Amino acid sequence: MGRPKSESKPVAGFGALVQTMRHTLQETGIARGVQNLRHVNQDSGFDCPGCAWPDPEKRSLAEFCENGAKHVAHEATRKRIGAEFFASWPVSKLYQQSDHWLEQQGRLTEPLCKPAGSDYYERISWEDALERLAVALCELESPHEAVFYTSGRTSNEAAFLYQLFAREFGTNNLPDCSHMCHESSGTALTEVIGTGKGTVSLADFEHADAILILGQNPGSNHPRMLTTLQAAKRRGCKIISINPIRERGLVSFANPKELQGLLGRGTPISDLFLQIRVGGDGATLKGIMKELLEMEQRAPGIILDRVFIDHHTENFDDLQAHLQSLDWSEIETQSGLERAEIRAAAEIYATAKRVIACWAMGLTQHRHAVANIQDIVNLLLFGGNIGIEGAGVCPVRGHSNVQGDRTVGITQKPKPAFLDRLSEVFGFEPPRDEGLNTVDAIRAMQERRVKVFIALGGNFVAATPDTAYTEEALRQCKLTVQVSTKLNRSHLVTGREALILPCLGRTERDLQNDQPQFVTVENSMSVVHRSQGHLDPVSDEVRSEPAIVAGIARAVFGDASNTDWDAMRCNYDVIRERIADVVPGFDDFNARVSQSVGFVLPSGARTRAFETASGKAAFTKHPLHRLEIEADQYLLMTIRSHNQFNTTIYGLDDRYRGVHGDRHVIFMNERDIAERGFHEGQALCITSHFRGETRSLSGFRIFPYALPSRCTAAYFPEANGLVPLGSTAEKSHTPTYKSIVVTLDPVS
Ligand code: SF4
Repeated sequence: MGRPKSESKPVAGFGALVQTMRHTLQETGIARGVQNLRHVNQDSGFDCPGCAWPDPEKRSLAEFCENGAKHVAHEATRKRIGAEFFASWPVSKLYQQSDHWLEQQGRLTEPLCKPAGSDYYERISWEDALERLAVALCELESPHEAVFYTSGRTSNEAAFLYQLFAREFGTNNLPDCSHMCHESSGTALTEVIGTGKGTVSLADFEHADAILILGQNPGSNHPRMLTTLQAAKRRGCKIISINPIRERGLVSFANPKELQGLLGRGTPISDLFLQIRVGGDGATLKGIMKELLEMEQRAPGIILDRVFIDHHTENFDDLQAHLQSLDWSEIETQSGLERAEIRAAAEIYATAKRVIACWAMGLTQHRHAVANIQDIVNLLLFGGNIGIEGAGVCPVRGHSNVQGDRTVGITQKPKPAFLDRLSEVFGFEPPRDEGLNTVDAIRAMQERRVKVFIALGGNFVAATPDTAYTEEALRQCKLTVQVSTKLNRSHLVTGREALILPCLGRTERDLQNDQPQFVTVENSMSVVHRSQGHLDPVSDEVRSEPAIVAGIARAVFGDASNTDWDAMRCNYDVIRERIADVVPGFDDFNARVSQSVGFVLPSGARTRAFETASGKAAFTKHPLHRLEIEADQYLLMTIRSHNQFNTTIYGLDDRYRGVHGDRHVIFMNERDIAERGFHEGQALCITSHFRGETRSLSGFRIFPYALPSRCTAAYFPEANGLVPLGSTAEKSHTPTYKSIVVTLDPVS
């Protein structure tokens, strides 16, 4: 199996410093750049608009990573675009540009409208824009003909107003980007431990004896996590990484905040790297548990925390019998591992008293994601590794407030208790029927059951699967509206009429009635904390997300609403008071969030008071799924480069993987390349196969990489067109971006 030349070279180091300075210089210049970086993730500063890795209580001067610096620089760029730019760029021509080029054009400075039949965006006043939107909504035969999409960058305050507006308007059509990422985590965890969130704090990483990292690439997607892992390693904690790709960030980390790190000396991260085949997580976890049960048989009381199992769990015996019935050779085949490798992982687990399991989309975007995540919980419950210091589950969110948005009501299936409180506090009867999730919303647009699509942030058309189908669906709409900071592909795939409403970024000062406002976010560890920008807004014509939502509500409801939208727009403390009235755990919100570190939302699972029907954590048994492919087929997973944040492309290099200047590449095992008579750089047509349907994308050049045989990878979102809309995870309906069956043909 081939190995890229630089695989063992530590990530970050001096290179991270160089990239941070390069992007900062390029986008903001030194003065503005340094001023910005001084405020990111600081007590009185703003929250990084990147991932949701938490900030330590004691902040360092430079409390950001290379990618955080990129997120901040690109949002605070000096480049601006408005009506003048769009006057010279027809939408059809903009559509032909790359996502990277679109990202480079700059911040949106004024509201824009693309009238029906026109190929151009033109300036529109805020009043007219909100009026057009209101007319379109009020003309609908049913409120369910509208969809209100949310991206994970949206603050708690804006998200709460948005769900309030949609529900007062009469629908629960509130899909969000979590449907594409950690929905599987929420669904799996809620069923077995009674909460959809992680149960650990950052401090728990200081006490763990072992950390499992599954389907996650922290080196690029949660880089400050490496500092936490480095500290754990130095304490003697053991780290097991489970991933089809030997990501360099899981091999070695050179901390750029340390001299030796700047000199390129790295700290080894993984003690054991299990390079599984695509989709091999479930088999690997079952194998580790089966090995542990055999160890327990040989030395009773060594592995299983019987006291915990007897008092705090249910269904252990069923699972034990199931695991004992499994066949080792099938486990080896489906995991892509040798039994000895699995045993090595079991031995590390067996010697650890406190174990944390972390995961990301490499786990959540598979057909059996929910079952696999529940197998992680099964494994942790074996040793009582939940609800104690140094142990627990840690789904690491990839968007700074994707968890917070859900907490304050962004969901298509709200709990009845939440709707009851909303009704009590705001005096209207909210809709009770389940709304549309992201996949269903796309189908409903295609079938013209949805006519108005509104997106609060994000890049819907790029983030979603089945690109050609999704684009066609959006074009069926009467009106599409994007609330955005920068130009992206979703502005170019529009309904008959389209609006762009420019909003403030995280880095910018938000004045309402000349009073500075702050917003709040919730990180992966359920810490709610404040974020306050300090830069002058890019223009007087941009508005904050809460102000935009309140403006839409005023335009739609006029004086017919009992909700005091203006009071909430003028002072976000009022929004937080309403959140405290409606959402459990936010009592005294304004006072508590004024503390620099914020506060942790309560969760029974953190103290073993599981909020399940039985009050116990549930062991669950899941079949050993067989992921089989034909002789001429491969498994493909979509991945992110080190130079992107979700759909935002900062550059064409992916330096940790050795890819330069290209995003249309297919990573492929060297032996597989040779067997097909292919060669490095050769252009291929990739065709996905799903229930008799095929989807093809051409022009992906072969890049030899250390992958298991018959496993390949290509970049998200370029390869999203291969992901069938119908190919989703059981129960959570998350698209299966991480395992698609494909065939490869040379492009003639
Ligand atoms: S680790 Fe995530 S939140 Fe922290 S600075 Fe980097 S991108 Fe931002």
